[in-house]
Amino acid sequence: DYAGVPGRVRVAVRLRTRNAEEMLADADFGDCVELLPELKRLKLRKNNWDAETYEFDEVLTEFASQKRVYQAVAKPVVESVLDGYNGTVMAYGQTGTGKTYTLGPLGEEDPATRGIMVRAMEDILAGVSLDTDSVTVSYLQLYMETIQDLLDPTNDNISIAEDPKTGDVSLPGVTLVEIRDQHSFVELLKLGEAHRFAANTKLNTESSRSHAFLMVHVKRSVEGRDVAHSGENGNNSHMVKTLKPPIVRKAKLVVVDLAGSERIDKSGSEGHTLEEAKSINLSLSALGKCINSLAEGSAYVPVRDSKLTRLLRDSFGGTARTSLVITIGPSPRHRGETASTILFGQRAM
Ligand code: ADP
Ligand code: MG
Repeated sequence: DYAGVPGRVRVAVRLRTRNAEEMLADADFGDCVELLPELKRLKLRKNNWDAETYEFDEVLTEFASQKRVYQAVAKPVVESVLDGYNGTVMAYGQTGTGKTYTLGPLGEEDPATRGIMVRAMEDILAGVSLDTDSVTVSYLQLYMETIQDLLDPTNDNISIAEDPKTGDVSLPGVTLVEIRDQHSFVELLKLGEAHRFAANTKLNTESSRSHAFLMVHVKRSVEGRDVAHSGENGNNSHMVKTLKPPIVRKAKLVVVDLAGSERIDKSGSEGHTLEEAKSINLSLSALGKCINSLAEGSAYVPVRDSKLTRLLRDSFGGTARTSLVITIGPSPRHRGETASTILFGQRAM
């Protein structure tokens, strides 16, 4: 748990099953990883006789349900957002390993497949009272150091503003939509997804080459609830604390679907692809450095190096909660990428 360890990053690893292609192509080869979920350990095979063992806060096998993953990865963060602390949930891993599957599914055909974003909103809406509290959402894409508003495609170069005193991050001009029910949230995610697809088509890129951010702002009027509560209480009603100014508690939940962490072969790429690869490397390594310094308890977190880390500035350290889920596949063909994802997760702990 987070108790007594402010700034500490909670790290879970999630394995997906072999896909059809890997089942065929690597049929003769065993998986490159073995999970020991009860021990919260993962073994990465080095060769036929030797393996390296790593420990995580949570080890989620290919049989872990979406619900279980939500509870392990996001629920504690959502609860602390309801208590007034900023929280971040990030998915990191090679393209095709399940980042979007972990965060994104709407579950319209099969509710069991609902991902972290939808489940988080359900818990937030259940935890607030909308007569005194408010929930607003923005949805963004960060591509090659440019921030685009996925709820307003004309707003395609958003700047980051930081409060010099508090360090709070804001995005002037970004679309903020008030959410009052789950249905309108799901519709908003669909709209954002459609805009993301259109923007990426125009930019001639894949969604795996950009970072997607869902930001949920929760504003709660704490004193307002106390008033309503004591008012129900018959003879206590004259004690209603109307003399105190209402206390407003603000917190934000940021859910980040990071760009694919795989190394792009620089020798084989040029122009556009090379620039994309450089930009992703830069932002993910800046993120790694920030997470490392959090893990080391360092007072200095180098957020300046990329827009990704500047956007997450008020999510690092202090009372903020951060949960990272690293996603991996079992195929021995991707052992190198899997090893580097595991290393990223280990350095965060
Ligand atoms: P990423 O976002 O990391 O590129 P995706 O989430 O798009 O990867 O997953 C790639 C494919 O694998 C998708 O078709 C997805 O539905 C499937 N997939 C990923 N993880 C799981 C899982 N745990 N269970 C079932 N299918 C999964
Ligand atoms: Mg994805």
